[in-house]
Amino acid sequence: MSEMSGLRALVTGGASGIGRATAELLAARGANVAVLDLDPSSVDKPMRGYAADVSDDSSVRSAVAAAAADLGGIDILVNNAGIGAAGTVEDNDDAQWHRVLDVNVLGIVRTTRAALPHLRASAHAAVVNTCSIAATAGLPQRALYSASKGAVHSLTLAMAADHVREGIRVNCVNPGTTETPWVDRLLDQAADPASERAALNARQPMGRLVTAHEVAAAVAYLASPAAASITGIALAVDGGMQGLRLRPE
Ligand code: NAD
Repeated sequence: MSEMSGLRALVTGGASGIGRATAELLAARGANVAVLDLDPSSVDKPMRGYAADVSDDSSVRSAVAAAAADLGGIDILVNNAGIGAAGTVEDNDDAQWHRVLDVNVLGIVRTTRAALPHLRASAHAAVVNTCSIAATAGLPQRALYSASKGAVHSLTLAMAADHVREGIRVNCVNPGTTETPWVDRLLDQAADPASERAALNARQPMGRLVTAHEVAAAVAYLASPAAASITGIALAVDGGMQGLRLRPE
């Protein structure tokens, strides 16, 4: 029997990319999985899909309550739903700032708030937030996105401190550029997507992007009882992007 057998997991943004790979991996390891997404129509059994927008508090509360009732509780919350934004501080107006922070930061606050009563009742409660290397990397042309993920990082640490005595662990993963429909959409906007993809791969220390499954494996580990003494950390899954200082060839 897998150590995740019988655990009940809720994954936001679980209909695509990293969230989808995470939901599928948790289910494959024996967890009962609910997916909360804007469009959960592609979520396959045995997972259950719930339509909600993490920027809308009442839709989040309804979806979390329905998922908790159907699963019989929540042990694992994966706060993964997120959106991107490109540009410097001059390129995004206030409405764009409010929108991205509303989804990427407040989305986590809303879902966690709704899930906390269920997590408190669990013997293996774990929250894993999808952050990004953008939180601390100083990436150009990513002011708004980086600020939102910096907030996710510090929110993770604060939540870990607030709930450690309740037996609720809170960690985050910091993926590097990861093969998902999100990155496909960005590359498709380039004049020459194939050469843009080749250039993106070449900029990675490993010469390739991270896979969604590799990020999912890190999330599953942090969510599992095997990580019972781990809380308040950010686990980089970035092919060495942040840790290595490679000399140019
Ligand atoms: P994706 O676009 O493939 O999937 C995102 C999912 O989130 C979609 O299913 C979408 O419907 C859902 N979603 C978006 N806004 C939502 C909302 N308001 N309410 C509910 N669901 C919503 O993206 P992905 O690449 O898998 O990204 C997932 C997470 O990983 C994001 O938080 C992103 O910031 C983070 N991340 C991605 C990369 C990357 O290179 N792909 C790198 C670092 C971090």
